[in-house]
Amino acid sequence: MASAGHVCETPGCGKPSKLQCPTCIKLEINNSYFCSQECFKGYWKHHKDLHKTPQLSASRSSQKDSYNPWPGFVFTGKLRPWPVTAKRDVPDHIRRPDYAKDGQPMSEKQARLSTQIRVLNETDISRMRRTCSLAREVLDLAGKAIRVGVTADEIDRVVHEACIERECYPSPLNYFHFPKSCCTSVNEVICHGIPDLRPFEDGDIVNVDVTVYHDGYHGDLNETYFVGNVDDEGKRIVNVAYECLDQAIRAVKPGVRYRDIGGIIQRHAHANGCSVVRTYCGHGIHELFHTAPSVPHYARNKAIGVMRPGHCFTIEPMINLGTWKDDTWPDDWTAVTQDGRRSAQFEQTLLVTEVGCDVLTKRLEDDGKPLFFSQT
Ligand SMILES: [Zn+2]
Ligand SMILES: [Zn+2]
Repeated sequence: MASAGHVCETPGCGKPSKLQCPTCIKLEINNSYFCSQECFKGYWKHHKDLHKTPQLSASRSSQKDSYNPWPGFVFTGKLRPWPVTAKRDVPDHIRRPDYAKDGQPMSEKQARLSTQIRVLNETDISRMRRTCSLAREVLDLAGKAIRVGVTADEIDRVVHEACIERECYPSPLNYFHFPKSCCTSVNEVICHGIPDLRPFEDGDIVNVDVTVYHDGYHGDLNETYFVGNVDDEGKRIVNVAYECLDQAIRAVKPGVRYRDIGGIIQRHAHANGCSVVRTYCGHGIHELFHTAPSVPHYARNKAIGVMRPGHCFTIEPMINLGTWKDDTWPDDWTAVTQDGRRSAQFEQTLLVTEVGCDVLTKRLEDDGKPLFFSQT
């Protein structure tokens, strides 16, 4: 749907669109389209905020240099923040998680006191399956929209619209006040990048992390994509991250300790001259977005718990070309490598079965291979 051309800005509309707002044209805002005058008028109240955010287009690079929200902050690499558009709305009829209103996941905070891992029953499992397959559809639409010149903000719009079409709430939206509907992490960004108006450049690697909430359950996955011609080191880091997740998934079965997953990932990363991020972990997921177990991706960790049929969790190794150490931008979200070298990641949501595991977020088309392979 969103891969070819532009989609109407009105949340929930989703129609292909060619009309541009006259003020946007004047301001060179070229990522906003409407399908009709009706949608334009109907969304004007929110749309007009877009005119207030400092807008940047590739042709106005002098303005780009003047946009620096954090004077004095020393960046670790070449990437810089770009302006972020207004929060998108979710229609009232879509069921939302408890933090959608005030940013505080109370149910998660209560559960944090316990390391108990929930065993899902048949009803839970069938709902998780449904949510995870919807999450996969949303991520694949986002992946297909990535190309040189497209902004992360457009990817966020694709994700947001695709969620609403599927009666899903985009789980990151307002989770501890996260301002957007997915995470987009470019080059040295490890995870939790906020979609902004920077156009993707030839050679970028871009991770898109999608979580959707449907019928009371969350499903979470991410992939890293190539933009145009990526250099050999870029291809290596993305491939190694994919292989690390693949090898970890093969080890999942009842009786395995959660702490043992990290050793498998770290061994493969180190064998390929890469390092493993330690600050961010895989997590239990079901009616809660992030809960027990915690699944570290590095070796010799102290994670609690043993896999049992009915456990549901993510594995999502973040693999770096240089140091494993991370830093955070002053937006309190964007995690970057301390040396500014690139980082790549893949994630799936898994269900432990009697004999191994089901990859609930697996790709159903194209032999289940990740999209990045077909784009090289
Ligand atoms: Zn996750
Ligand atoms: Zn995720």
